[in-house]
Amino acid sequence: MLWKIIETEFIFSLCVLLCGIIQLIGSISVPSIETGGDLMSNHSGSRMLNDVIQVLNDEEVLNTIGLQKSQQVITQIVDIASRIYDCNPGEILEGHTDYLNLCYGCFTITTNLDNGLCNSCRS
Ligand SMILES: [Zn+2]
Repeated sequence: MLWKIIETEFIFSLCVLLCGIIQLIGSISVPSIETGGDLMSNHSGSRMLNDVIQVLNDEEVLNTIGLQKSQQVITQIVDIASRIYDCNPGEILEGHTDYLNLCYGCFTITTNLDNGLCNSCRS
């Protein structure tokens, strides 16, 4: 019971932290959008999230919340980052797709991945 509360608090804190990071990335990328230049992909934001996911994996956070929850949380983060902050799903998930069983092209959950892409995204 106590462990469950601690775990819930932990996951909540983690989400708050990730929201902060995504907000930070947003504030970094906004000036380039406002200048009206070409909307280049937010590479630094993507690489930063890639490193953050690496930390979550290295520190056993993903193992603690389990594969299904990890896929759910990471998919939501990548969706927000790419949809709102112009990050690149392939860059964010590079090196993470195989253990997450997650296609970076369409976020399908599958073990049939080649270079991070599922069968239908490859064809
Ligand atoms: Zn796919």
